[in-house]
Amino acid sequence: MGALIGHEWALQLLLNGWQAGRISHATLLLGPPNIGKTTLARVIAQALQCTAANPMPCEVCSSCRRVMTGNHPDVRILDAPGQPIKIDQVRELQRELSLLPYEGRWRVAILSEFERATAEAANALLKTLEEPPSYVVLLLTATRVDQLLPTIISRCQLLWLRPLPIDQVQQALISRWGVEATLAELLAHLSGGRIGWAVSVFQDREALSRREDLMEQTFNLLHRTRTQRLTYAAALSRNPKLLEETLMLWGSWWHDILLVKAGADVPLRNIDQSERLRAQAQNVTLDEARRMVEQIEFVTRGLEQNVNTRLAIEVLLLSWPRVEEKR
Ligand SMILES: [Zn+2]
Repeated sequence: MGALIGHEWALQLLLNGWQAGRISHATLLLGPPNIGKTTLARVIAQALQCTAANPMPCEVCSSCRRVMTGNHPDVRILDAPGQPIKIDQVRELQRELSLLPYEGRWRVAILSEFERATAEAANALLKTLEEPPSYVVLLLTATRVDQLLPTIISRCQLLWLRPLPIDQVQQALISRWGVEATLAELLAHLSGGRIGWAVSVFQDREALSRREDLMEQTFNLLHRTRTQRLTYAAALSRNPKLLEETLMLWGSWWHDILLVKAGADVPLRNIDQSERLRAQAQNVTLDEARRMVEQIEFVTRGLEQNVNTRLAIEVLLLSWPRVEEKR
């Protein structure tokens, strides 16, 4: 299949429902960031608007192509990463949805990262969810179900999506994006099955060299004093983008150390750093590694809820095990 990589079961489930005459007017696609939720939503919109006879979207007809590029008059896509959907956008959307489809059978709206929507916007959308016009299909995506209004959740069909198998990400990087095999293997492992993340790092070549730098700093942190760690935390908390990348790297780093300590027979994420990981694993206990993984997850979740960033990073770095530098 074309644009869709993974999650075929979810599309098939919806198609089966449509063929049996069951069409859900609101579907909520849930799952970790960058695993392809919005891409799946676009493919679902294609399937609804496709002019070919096949239930699967053909991806070549004019409808399919315009859905993918965001130019279909009956498909509205609100997808501005990191930017909350506001009430004005929902009101404008509702004006559009009150009109019959312009050319297709359906009017489709995709609302990405809906847990970030403002409270006013979420409340306004409830009206449409409660009484959707018969030709309207809403496709919402969210990473965190606990940040959505229960009344929103209860009116949607829920589809829980998971990260893709590493192999599938690797193959897609090679065949779809022409990534060289060794790099594809590394990116697939680093991504933990998050295809969108792997593609964005491939397309932003500096991301890999930033990772190298971060890796050095992360490695060195083990040998740093309390004061040095506090200085580092202060600098990091002032740079949200770097902080996000750093937390993801730390998460994967400690996750790998935990796997090594536990003697787990599963592939590491940082496959290019396995020697260094194994060496570092000798300096920490299994409990310390487990605690670090938990704390990094805790801080990552906390940042999404606007906790005091600097304090959270300070606490994290002070609990980081300290290893005397070998001379
Ligand atoms: Zn088509």
